[in-house]
Amino acid sequence: MAVAEPDFLAELGAWLRIPSVSARPEHAVDVRRSAEWLCEALWRAGFPVAELWETAGHPAVFAEWPATDPAAPVILVYGHHDVQPVEQDEWDTPPFEPVRRGDELFGRGAADDKGQVVSHLFAARLAVAACGGQAPPVTLKVLVEGEEESGSRHFATLLRGHRERLACDAVIVSDTPMLGPQTPSICIGMRGLADCEIDVFGPDRDIHSGSFGGGVPNPAHALAELVAAMHDGLGRVALPGFYDRVRPLDGRERAALARLPFDETRWLRESAQSGAAVGEAGFSTLERIWARPTAEVNGLWSGYTGPGNKTVIPRSAHAKISFRLVPNQQPGEVITAFREFVADRLPAGMRVVIRAGGPGVRPCVTPADSPVLQAAIRAVGAVFGGEVLLTREGGSGPEADLAEILAVPVVFVGFGLSDDRIHAANERVLVSRLLKGAEALGELWIDLGSGAAG
Ligand SMILES: [Zn+2]
Repeated sequence: MAVAEPDFLAELGAWLRIPSVSARPEHAVDVRRSAEWLCEALWRAGFPVAELWETAGHPAVFAEWPATDPAAPVILVYGHHDVQPVEQDEWDTPPFEPVRRGDELFGRGAADDKGQVVSHLFAARLAVAACGGQAPPVTLKVLVEGEEESGSRHFATLLRGHRERLACDAVIVSDTPMLGPQTPSICIGMRGLADCEIDVFGPDRDIHSGSFGGGVPNPAHALAELVAAMHDGLGRVALPGFYDRVRPLDGRERAALARLPFDETRWLRESAQSGAAVGEAGFSTLERIWARPTAEVNGLWSGYTGPGNKTVIPRSAHAKISFRLVPNQQPGEVITAFREFVADRLPAGMRVVIRAGGPGVRPCVTPADSPVLQAAIRAVGAVFGGEVLLTREGGSGPEADLAEILAVPVVFVGFGLSDDRIHAANERVLVSRLLKGAEALGELWIDLGSGAAG
């Protein structure tokens, strides 16, 4: 099986020219145009059904191509057609005029996520051609949302509203990178997220530090003490019950992470841009960033911060705090634990307000025994060559909604690379990887359709 490269590039190139930046209101019309373009591309690929699904924000696209055999597995493909904003002057070539150089294709969305969605269009064609030209070996459903880069705000509502039409046996997400060009890998989990803002209030207004200092509590001190108490001496998060629901990593999971090729020195220098690796005692860096929960201060401010000095006791102090979560932690419970933690430590004479940033994101992990994961490992290994390693992502996405609302396993089959510069200037994708990706997905549909996956 092989994909006709000119056809592939013609489709992807046309789509990359549509600046579907979901975060910018002036691009709302482009996000819609991108959805309409995708509907037509799905029809061209052969999908008998492709339609726009409206949300309270930007539209999503749904498509369906039933297998001939009504007992064939039903697979839902998830991706997104919106892209990150661009910093025009940092790009070497215009971000919405795709440029090919060797194997690299430059353009916003080339890797994240339009390139990977186009791989799915061609994978469907390949699988249909290999199975007699009429229908795919599995029933394919496709859901491509338009708000992933701005928080998937209406995604859960969309899923709930269309639950019956989205019914499936598994979800395939193609929006993650592989470990390296010679290292095929599949991501098997993402962390969840809970975040909040805390305001600590003292006097009604800033007061003179000479007239009152030493005699009344200082909100900045109180907040600094709260922040300092969030971790114990072993780097563990000190919120009450924080680890109660955390499923410990088993020996097999730890061994799999320890086997991954990971150069910590290089990662510190090039990716983390940090001088030292620190974190929870007893865990490796990959375990800390992928598979253990965290608490981080994202912003911290109080009092006078302008030039010169202004000797006050500030009336208030503020911080933005976020928690990355792992199975089976719940965002709402973590915020409740943070409220209790603060209430237990707040000094006399202070008032505090804690506002959760939203419902948060639940963590999402692919069950190790999922037959679809096993089939994906076979297909990726067959096409990319070599052993397929299992990785995780420290970040958070809408995948947990897919797993929970549709009640099916989510399997991440992505073909990008970590140096594709997604979300940054000069985003690119390697065309050969997208073509191989289409082949691997085609193999996966054939594998699943043959019943080999049970
Ligand atoms: Zn993405």
